[in-house]
Amino acid sequence: MMKRAIRADLLDFTATPGWGTPGEAGVRFRPDHWLLVDEAGRIAGATPQQPGADWMPDDQRGRLLLPGFIDSHVHCPQLDVIASWGSGLLDWLQTYTFPAELRHADAAVAAAAAERFLDALLAHGTTSAVVFPTVHKVSAEALFEGAARRGMRLVTGKVLMDRHAPDGLRDDVDGARTDCEDLIARWHGQGRNSFAVTVRFAVTSTPAQLAMAGELGRRHAGLYMQTHVAETLDEGLWVAELFPQARSYLDVYHQAGLLHERAVLAHGIWLDAQDRALLRDTGAHIAHSPSSNLFLGSGLFDWPGALQADHGVSLASDVGGGTSLCQLRTMADAYKVQALRGNKLNAWVMLHAATRGAAQALRLDHEIGSLEPGRLADVVLWDWAVGPVAAQRDAVARGAEPGTTAQPLHARVFALLTLGDERNVAATYVAGRPAWQRDLIARHA
Ligand SMILES: [Zn+2]
Repeated sequence: MMKRAIRADLLDFTATPGWGTPGEAGVRFRPDHWLLVDEAGRIAGATPQQPGADWMPDDQRGRLLLPGFIDSHVHCPQLDVIASWGSGLLDWLQTYTFPAELRHADAAVAAAAAERFLDALLAHGTTSAVVFPTVHKVSAEALFEGAARRGMRLVTGKVLMDRHAPDGLRDDVDGARTDCEDLIARWHGQGRNSFAVTVRFAVTSTPAQLAMAGELGRRHAGLYMQTHVAETLDEGLWVAELFPQARSYLDVYHQAGLLHERAVLAHGIWLDAQDRALLRDTGAHIAHSPSSNLFLGSGLFDWPGALQADHGVSLASDVGGGTSLCQLRTMADAYKVQALRGNKLNAWVMLHAATRGAAQALRLDHEIGSLEPGRLADVVLWDWAVGPVAAQRDAVARGAEPGTTAQPLHARVFALLTLGDERNVAATYVAGRPAWQRDLIARHA
């Protein structure tokens, strides 16, 4: 691969931005710079001047270049049921999700789904993800294979569920252990793939299976754990019935040894202060999924509570409970969730939670999440505005309209987060290579 230099407005973070009135601390904006990417696909630096002839110029001036988004919780097979009408979580699982997931027992269905899903992530500006496949080993394999071919950072693992699920979607303790061990041996730490012990949620695993899941994590270094916690009140009541000895829903996972610094728990809406302290103390973090929480009517995440407890929070689409793979849409929903709770999230906090903050929470900040030298060049080029309404808003923010003066950068970025979506993605690069290009697709369409 040749050394590449990409010219654009570069935006990333060098520190965690503050809450409340947006400041500039931690925000690094380098308008009209060249991002330098070496032969290995790593970021070598940035410069305002065009570098020498040994760098292949990729002139994208006028566009915004961000670190690729990280989606910390998303379900591959649920692209088939995204935007399904009329239910809350438990009913939605039975009516839409479980029937859709049954089809992924077929290796050909699973492979086609993984291809479609990974390409869709790239087209939506997401370069790394923590993904739920189905209970079927072939569905996890298809994701690992597809991500390896694309050079993407991916965390996944076969879903564990040995009760309260229909025929064809249940495993058992021994079979699940064998499948996981095989997947770990073949895929964990291979290229940019990592294995996650994947507990669907406490309801669908027996205590014996949870104990097995905990053992897996202790036996192998660097395994992730992903699951759901405290998404809805109904689900919480069911968990309390099934695990009477646990102090709380989160405590079920803690007792099984599943909370650690590579544990990613989706939702975490109905937690108390003791739960939040446990997240902090174990290094586990919450994948906040506002689009899904609004769509299924699950509840409003207490982000300030998380901040106060000082545990990690990343942003997740949770498709298909969520309604868009685009993390800009997730941010717009996160803003509205906090608005309903009486808080105003600034754009920096949201952008950080989908880039550097997510990378830190996943212990991957040495590899992804920023434009620091040495990171892999997983980057996305965004059009600042698409369509006349967004274009006008952007022109006003830039002070380009008669009678206007340039507003702080935050105004421009917040308008992008609020009005933008995957149509703003011009190109996506994985480890410095173009992985998706809008114009190329348009020409071939
Ligand atoms: Zn989910």
